[in-house]
Amino acid sequence: MQPLRSLSLWMDQLDEPLCARPALRESLEADVCIIGAGYTGLWTAYYLKRQAPQLNIVVIEANIAGFGASGRNGGWLMGNLLGEDRLLASLSPQQRRASIDLLHAIPDEVGNVLQREGIDCDYRKGGVLYCAARYPEQERSLRAYLDDLYRQGMTEDDYRWLRPEQLDAQVRISNAYGAIYSPHTATIQPAKLARGLARAVEALGVPIYENTPALDWRSGEVSTPLARIRCQWIVPAVEGYAASLPPLGKHQLPVQSLLVATEPLPDTTWDEIGLDRGQAFSEGSRQVTYGQRTTDNRLVFGARGGYRFGGRLRDNFNLQAHEVELRRYLFSDLFPQLRHARITHTWGGNLGMARRFRPHMLCDRQRGIALAGGYGGEGVGATNLGGRTLAALILNQHNALTGQPWVHDNRPLASLASWPPEPCRWLGYNAIIQSFVHEDRTLANPATPPWRRRLASHLADFMEGFMH
Ligand SMILES: Cc1cc2nc3c(=O)[nH]c(=O)nc-3n(C[C@H](O)[C@H](O)[C@H](O)COP(=O)(O)OP(=O)(O)OC[C@H]3O[C@@H](n4cnc5c(N)ncnc54)[C@H](O)[C@@H]3O)c2cc1C
Repeated sequence: MQPLRSLSLWMDQLDEPLCARPALRESLEADVCIIGAGYTGLWTAYYLKRQAPQLNIVVIEANIAGFGASGRNGGWLMGNLLGEDRLLASLSPQQRRASIDLLHAIPDEVGNVLQREGIDCDYRKGGVLYCAARYPEQERSLRAYLDDLYRQGMTEDDYRWLRPEQLDAQVRISNAYGAIYSPHTATIQPAKLARGLARAVEALGVPIYENTPALDWRSGEVSTPLARIRCQWIVPAVEGYAASLPPLGKHQLPVQSLLVATEPLPDTTWDEIGLDRGQAFSEGSRQVTYGQRTTDNRLVFGARGGYRFGGRLRDNFNLQAHEVELRRYLFSDLFPQLRHARITHTWGGNLGMARRFRPHMLCDRQRGIALAGGYGGEGVGATNLGGRTLAALILNQHNALTGQPWVHDNRPLASLASWPPEPCRWLGYNAIIQSFVHEDRTLANPATPPWRRRLASHLADFMEGFMH
């Protein structure tokens, strides 16, 4: 197995020994068994135990807390949910605004817990910049997106356009056309959050058994290699690893995302670039890019994903030279002064995509299952909402959390939308991604004639339509 410190820059930076907590060796009974010690599992344990200290809750984890996406992500802690526009479409304007406020409040809620629990994870609420940076069509599509946000009830306080000279005050990107800025995002050091949360949960009296994979699960019982847990509630919180707990794999597509980190860069370089308040930034391509300047002055930059036939997980994230160079090419396009910057860390992870890209929080009361997931690469903040919501559902509360359109209370697990079987998944995923790659290449070349530019964008629009 890959050494734990090499899982990500973030794991490497931890100044704690990375040794596993004891595994579960004896069968036990519990009220709630949480499978997976990433953010979803840990937030659920945290909110549940704080509200109902009498509950007997256990967490089991196949590796160590933070082993999954939670210890490897790009550190964008966003106050939103993937595809929230479609999820909120059927609500009245007032209801929609209330839901939007709930989402926007996520980074502050996390910030409050960090303070309360004394978790230091380099939290900085510097907002996010979605930059139109590489070709003029990015400005058009970002402006159209902004109009759409305003139609949904967002205001200039939530999202606003920055002209190039205004953007310069935050980040200096070569040839930028402008950007959307939103204050509702913070950046963090992801592994510090996962490991700190695990300690906070333990301090509340919730044991975490590491190196304890769930091998099998059915209503009221979870089997691990050495012991069984009999319980009233099971919370499978395995996101990108859903295939390890059938039938969850039907509902969750594992997708890989890859990142690189530079060495700490000198102040003079950052004086040229900016990003001095912990802002998250991305570039407006349909292929995801995400970055942040770390508190020790590195650039962390992630881009693009991958899906393996049959939903096979990738477990070796020692990136190949071409994977590293693609990311270098993309960040150098934004920041030419970093073309030769030394890359010290490269890594990646598996995340979960729900069908139609709609995250869900579900409570199957008959079978005693509560789960949240399908965050699709936007789960750092959403898992906090997921944890709070699952706690409320398990405690049978009916409140603002449980009344949201992404919450399916008292519904069987089987009601979640499934992905089509192979080879449809693989073909569909790759057809869509290839249309995005083609669009990106065509538009990034200034010599491409206008008719070909339009054609490439229409094709990508058309293919994107299949995602929803
Ligand atoms: C490379 C990358 C970059 C990302 N960047 C961002 C970002 O910048 N912002 C953002 O909002 N989101 C981002 N995401 C997504 C975000 O990290 C995830 O949505 C979030 O961490 C999911 O947390 P989780 O607890 O649900 O899953 P995970 O953190 O994956 O935790 C699942 C845990 O379950 C364990 N497990 C699996 N199977 C079993 C089993 N059978 N028994 C017991 N335990 C098991 C795993 O070991 C793992 O620890 C990124 C994801 C990746 C991979």
